[in-house]
Amino acid sequence: MTIDVDARTSGGARSSVGARLADLEISRAWLVDPASGREGPGEIVVTDGVLEAVTWLEGVEAEGIDASGVIVAAGFIDLHAHLREPGNEDAETVATGLAAAAHGGFTTVCVMPNTTPALDEPSVLARIRDAAAASGLPVALLAHGAVSAGRAGEQLAALGELADAGVVGFSDDGAPVGSASLFRNALAYAGMLGLPIVDHPEDAALTEGAEANEGLIATILGLRGWPRAAEADAVARDLAILADVVGDVPGARLHLTHLSTAASLAHVRLAKAAGLPVTCDVTPHHLALTEEWLAGARRWSWEALDDDGVARDHWRDGAITAPPFDTSVRVNPPLRSAVDAAACLAALVDGTADAIATDHAPHAEVDKAVEFGLAANGISGIETALGVVLAAVDAGRLSLATAIAALTTGPARVLGDREPSTRGLFEGESANVVVFDRSATWRVTPDALASKGKNSPLLGRDLPGRVLLTVAGGRIAYEAADD
Ligand SMILES: [Zn+2]
Repeated sequence: MTIDVDARTSGGARSSVGARLADLEISRAWLVDPASGREGPGEIVVTDGVLEAVTWLEGVEAEGIDASGVIVAAGFIDLHAHLREPGNEDAETVATGLAAAAHGGFTTVCVMPNTTPALDEPSVLARIRDAAAASGLPVALLAHGAVSAGRAGEQLAALGELADAGVVGFSDDGAPVGSASLFRNALAYAGMLGLPIVDHPEDAALTEGAEANEGLIATILGLRGWPRAAEADAVARDLAILADVVGDVPGARLHLTHLSTAASLAHVRLAKAAGLPVTCDVTPHHLALTEEWLAGARRWSWEALDDDGVARDHWRDGAITAPPFDTSVRVNPPLRSAVDAAACLAALVDGTADAIATDHAPHAEVDKAVEFGLAANGISGIETALGVVLAAVDAGRLSLATAIAALTTGPARVLGDREPSTRGLFEGESANVVVFDRSATWRVTPDALASKGKNSPLLGRDLPGRVLLTVAGGRIAYEAADD
């Protein structure tokens, strides 16, 4: 395998972030292209930023190339990231968030509107776009507008104006749309605009003061329980309203984000079978981490199940290797059981879950260096997503093709396949490509993370799949330093 990068700024300098790729040739790599349903040995050529040729190798030419080395895939698309600007630039800025995305292999990022002020009218979107342009980073920034004015859950935001300004969906994420009638109106109006409502399903009446997934571990740790039913009943409500609205507004669409329980995924599975226009995503942390991490376990979710899918006894089998109450694992929805995590993986395999979204939630240290119950919810996860997902692939829980599809074509479909940055390995268009080495690991450290948010429970861990190069819109978004 060879990677021959030749990028020039207009002055002819060597490669640098933001520069247009003059020439890129990657020969003898493993290509994964879910858009065509194909993976195998191949080569790509990028000239002046345009993906000029994708060549699949066969016979003797393909000998010695397998899926364990350098992988070339379409750039990843994150449906759910918090870049904190405007309002909380101590935690993240658009510039640091986009740099983190590029380091994670993402070439398109959809930002959530829970900024301060909320992204509930076009001028806030303009500010965020200005910050993206000023960053010089080529990662495509898309945005969800707020469902309600100020995300207060009382009146609809200016959905039409936001749609005209180019938002890709509407969400009050951070919080659910609590009012069923507001949710109903939002689905109908957004549907007429051809856009989805992206709901964070949580019945707030069941989660007041909640700290950890309800169950034995929460009880032993003395943490207030966060019932699974709080998610499943919100999902059921949303689906019931969708079924109603879609009769009047055929364009109505619902996307449920960060589903974390077997029960809520079962609801979506049935709804899809019934033909409802619903999609959903799961996060890397909900498919790979579990509630036992709150007690100090650090094994992957699949390592916490025996061969029959029954949870192994963490208290007796020596799984506790870190101190309890690490606030980096406080997240909304909470880390669940190993059985729920297995359900998230199974949902990706059977197509119930359309995408893996990171819910990248960087926080300033001051918001995490407090007692567990007072810590801000969220994990800084856009840079570790690929490694976590590859760990599941290495363990045989997902195929590489399914994992890559959940990071590329799956989210592109949720976005209506309209965004030019999400078309995959498409010859003749600006290149959106990630190149990573499955056989190389990298250590997650505060310095290794481009994000300002160092709130990762994976600090100190070696993850598979070092990103070598991310090309977004034909320009270099990230290039690994030479060893
Ligand atoms: Zn959320």
